Amino acid sequence: MKPIRPNENFLIFGSPAIEQPEIDEVMDCFKRSWLGTGPKVAKFEEDFCGYIGAPNATAVNSCTAALHLSLIASGVGPGDEVITTPMTFCATANAIIHAGAMPVLADVDPQTMNLDPREVAKKITPKTRAILPVHFAGRPCDMPALVALAEKHGLKIIEDCAHAIETQIGEKHAGTFGDFGCFSFYVTKNIITGEGGMVVTKREEDAARIKMLALHGMSKDAWKRFSDEGYKHYQVVECGFKYNMMDVQAAIGIHQLRRIETYWRRRTELWARYNEAFAKLPITLPAPAAPGTRHAFHLYSIFVDESRCGISRDAFLDGMTRHNIGVGVHYLSLPEHPYYQRTFGWRAGDFPNAMKIGQQTASLPLSAKLTDDDVADVIAAVRQLCGNFQ
Ligand SMILES: *Cc1c(COP(=O)(O)O)cnc(C)c1O
Repeated sequence: MKPIRPNENFLIFGSPAIEQPEIDEVMDCFKRSWLGTGPKVAKFEEDFCGYIGAPNATAVNSCTAALHLSLIASGVGPGDEVITTPMTFCATANAIIHAGAMPVLADVDPQTMNLDPREVAKKITPKTRAILPVHFAGRPCDMPALVALAEKHGLKIIEDCAHAIETQIGEKHAGTFGDFGCFSFYVTKNIITGEGGMVVTKREEDAARIKMLALHGMSKDAWKRFSDEGYKHYQVVECGFKYNMMDVQAAIGIHQLRRIETYWRRRTELWARYNEAFAKLPITLPAPAAPGTRHAFHLYSIFVDESRCGISRDAFLDGMTRHNIGVGVHYLSLPEHPYYQRTFGWRAGDFPNAMKIGQQTASLPLSAKLTDDDVADVIAAVRQLCGNFQ
């Protein structure tokens, strides 16, 4: 079989668009010999607040760090339970474990792939401290229902917005419904800084605690101590972490954020093109955005059911890779992984909706960097692999 793309032109899944302004801004860091946390981080935080409509934002070095700090600042610790989704990246659950608490899974809705609030309600116990929803693929969770549950039971909400920078319900952005919103700028995300993350909080005192915890637990003047305002002593007031973002990273983020809407429009276009091209294939397409909401279109995932399609999901992934097109799986449900089985006794069959998604899902390239020719290659490969069996 001749591959649709030549070997030397492998289409890397999630490869980001990087443009000249961020290259120049990074060079500016080198020319000034200021690489660490400084004015570019402050600017990126301010711009991000403006975009999200949040009262504050703290840049950190990953979304995993953002989640970890938010859990600690929520008062989550040993003996506590945090309810989250089995349909997520391992970092979501690992952050809960790093905070000393126990992750408790609630199954997802099969269409939206987001936490089902009714399943969450069933998992609340006297030990529950927080709910950690993930806006999967950029589709907003049912935040009104989750916020109502949290208020009724006195729980914190930490939103995992790794896929969801552009996500909105009405005019309100994901990350501003709960107590904390955690974002990712990892290389495959909607906008990137290489490694990087952001925490937005509803309350100023939470933001202050996050800032302190992100830099060794040093008192807040530590962030300013390298400036020209005179020597400042710092005090360590808590045992914190080394989670701060560098100016080199923020230099990329500042310019990526300016293009966030342009990139979103391009992904919206690709999403529509895929929907049209695959409408007649025996595969399931992602559910359309719910009315009154904005989908961030972070992942375009199709569902390959062997009995309908004549090809298994894993054979489909292999086929795409042989056509030199990078694909992803978002995600095998968390209970499929040996660490969680061994440690918590989780079984995939206990979360049937997440398990089925994890076994049938395949994500196609959706980066704003894709050219029309790249998209045509993806479409041709999917049609060839899935179009022969009716
Ligand atoms: C990528 C991702 C994370 C982790 O983000 P990092 O910035 O790489 O730490 C967490 N949750 C979800 C849902 C993700 O997709």
